[in-house]
Amino acid sequence: MKARYGSIALGQEVMDQGLCTGCGLCVGMCPYIKSINERVAVIHPCGKEDGNCYKICPKTLTDWVEMDNQVFGGRRQDHILGNYQKILFARTRQAHVHEKGQYGGVATSLLSLAIEKGQVDAAVATGGPAGEIPKPTVAHSREEVLACGGSHYSASPSMGAVNQAVKEGAARVAATGRPCQVLALRKMQALDGDSSHNLAANKVNFIVGLFCFWALDSAIYSFLSKQVGVKGILKVDILVDGIEITTSTGKIKIPVDKVRPYIRSTCQECFDPTSEFADVSVGSTEYDPGWNTLIVRTKKGEEMVDMAVNEGIIETKAYPEERLPMLYTAVRNKKLRVLQQKEQNTARYLQLDDEYKQGIIDQGVRRV
Ligand SMILES: Cc1cc2nc3c(=O)[nH]c(=O)nc-3n(C[C@H](O)[C@H](O)[C@H](O)COP(=O)(O)OP(=O)(O)OC[C@H]3O[C@@H](n4cnc5c(N)ncnc54)[C@H](O)[C@@H]3O)c2cc1C
Ligand code: SF4
Ligand code: SF4
Repeated sequence: MKARYGSIALGQEVMDQGLCTGCGLCVGMCPYIKSINERVAVIHPCGKEDGNCYKICPKTLTDWVEMDNQVFGGRRQDHILGNYQKILFARTRQAHVHEKGQYGGVATSLLSLAIEKGQVDAAVATGGPAGEIPKPTVAHSREEVLACGGSHYSASPSMGAVNQAVKEGAARVAATGRPCQVLALRKMQALDGDSSHNLAANKVNFIVGLFCFWALDSAIYSFLSKQVGVKGILKVDILVDGIEITTSTGKIKIPVDKVRPYIRSTCQECFDPTSEFADVSVGSTEYDPGWNTLIVRTKKGEEMVDMAVNEGIIETKAYPEERLPMLYTAVRNKKLRVLQQKEQNTARYLQLDDEYKQGIIDQGVRRV
């Protein structure tokens, strides 16, 4: 990844422009980048002209073709969902995970398995009580992974915990995160070797990406708590027409128009709703909340999913053909909106060649 700038440019080009996605990976790469309440800031400009913080940021120049080459060893056939081997429905077979998981609990099951089978020393996840600003977490056991089950719909800068895990001695790390976080991790893996400002490049060996069409500002939590009053929030879910909050006394629905002002502006420029560069991507089915959509992308992803099926941790079934057009349309529309922005000279971080651009315009559903 070619980049010529350091933390001053990161501050000016990304943070000051409202483009920071809160991925958090630059946090902890040097002592001068910190986060507070999900805002990431450079607290002292180090003056380096060629910093890793700049190179790994998902909102600095990113060549999509180069990313495909790095992660998959070639160009993509599918211009909407990216490279993948299989699309499935999947769910956990573990009752305790089912109870805690957002949908099918597949993300939690795969991370737990990676720890239990000694594939990794630590897993980076996002935890804390539903309805509160979440906590970036380094989990070392399946109990700690389980405690992070469920979704927080804000931009938790959790990838800072990857740097923390490595500083604490983890030699192999799994991570789960939003697509912008996955992209940051992959850009980090493209850096040359380890250094004091790049401790984790060769340590991340399994990435579970989430689907994500937008994330909310952390101010959403005080808004939500005002809506529910003294009742504690047990779960938050995003439905097509708004947010559903589960409390101890029932469910409350908040219309999407009330939530829209909290969407982070950078998410409007996001080109990757399905974690295209993850080992596996996990989303809802928009259909049956007890299951996940599971996209198996890399060889590592396939190994982990096969292991989870063979161990009886998860089960899978065919993705219903008739639902593919809905998935493709949602993702394609988001990509087309960002391409349009590019024409208007925004979404400047995104670099694509003509074949990739045309592919999005021309391609329909691809059946595998
Ligand atoms: C901000 C956001 C927006 C999303 N938007 C969509 C969407 O539009 N469509 C869709 O299909 N799916 C979306 N998802 C993904 C969805 O909510 C589930 O995370 C996913 O389907 C996995 O379900 P699961 O049952 O396997 O999760 P679980 O087994 O419960 O695991 C959830 C994992 O998510 C991680 N996590 C929780 N909050 C965050 C966060 N803020 N940032 C990073 N990681 C987090 C936890 O570490 C945990 O490991 C979104 C997730 C987030 C965080
Ligand atoms: S690396 Fe992540 S947290 Fe840091 S500026 Fe870029 S988007 Fe924000
Ligand atoms: S929409 Fe994109 S930029 Fe925003 S949180 Fe999700 S993955 Fe990150």
